[in-house]
Amino acid sequence: MNRKVWTVSGSLFFLLLLAGACMMGCLQQDPGDDSRLHVTVTILPQSEIAREIGGERVCVTVIVPPGVEPHTYEPGAGQILEISRSDIYFRLGPGLLPFEDNLVERLRELNPDLLIVSTSDGIELIHGEEGMEEDESGDPGHGGTDPHIWLSPSNLRIMAKNTGEGLRLADPLHREEYSERETAYLAKIDATDTKIRGILSGLDTRSFMVFHPAWGYFAREYGLSQVAVEEGGREAGIRHLSTLVAFARENGIKIIFADPQHSTRESSVVAGEIDGMVVVLDPLSPGTLQNLEDAASHIARSYHNTSPGVPP
Ligand SMILES: [Zn+2]
Repeated sequence: MNRKVWTVSGSLFFLLLLAGACMMGCLQQDPGDDSRLHVTVTILPQSEIAREIGGERVCVTVIVPPGVEPHTYEPGAGQILEISRSDIYFRLGPGLLPFEDNLVERLRELNPDLLIVSTSDGIELIHGEEGMEEDESGDPGHGGTDPHIWLSPSNLRIMAKNTGEGLRLADPLHREEYSERETAYLAKIDATDTKIRGILSGLDTRSFMVFHPAWGYFAREYGLSQVAVEEGGREAGIRHLSTLVAFARENGIKIIFADPQHSTRESSVVAGEIDGMVVVLDPLSPGTLQNLEDAASHIARSYHNTSPGVPP
């Protein structure tokens, strides 16, 4: 190997390292066929939708890394530049995540041709206290609008249609393929919805307790009520904690759902007081349909926690 080749491959390696550090772009994760559409999504759950509908024709990059809290995330300059080079950016939607609104403005400057699709278009958003209980501040900690739109089959149907439409617009040659996959994914959503309705049927108590109030759309869909430990995006005070303990005792709640993006300290305090337990449920799990089904099973089981392992 001559010196020049070494230098070129050395700097190429360095560049790849740099790009990898900024963002695990689709080509780094999955090198090879570069004829695919480069699709960027904001959060992991959107990647399931893009992959289900795009199939092998797309290469998906997720902006917010696993385990990172999207509400406070800020993409770096290198990452923004890489996103601007995608063919499509499926954003969650206006007014949902603070960084996304700024990012979209920046992307339009960097690449006016980038197709930006809002996956929340057509979804009836939850503002303020709706779907919440016991939150005195009235602020779910998301600037007033609940951004966790993907945690509901009805919303997922709309997100899937918006994603399908975006792919057909970007790659009209394969319109039919995207439409077929979209139909198949919609059928999977329907099947999950039916399962969940079965799991939740016949529950006397319709409240469940969570740390971070991510399950508002899920609650709305299934006539449930979400009680949050976190108060307006802040740690709960003593008074709020004792209200929660009283509420849990009255309603026979034995499980508090925590998530990997937040501390379980306060949830454990409440769980200790009610002789219950903390269960980790990740709202950002990449397998959204399975996650929704798991959430329903946990909620159904949470009222029967006195004999663990026995199905409800
Ligand atoms: Zn959240």
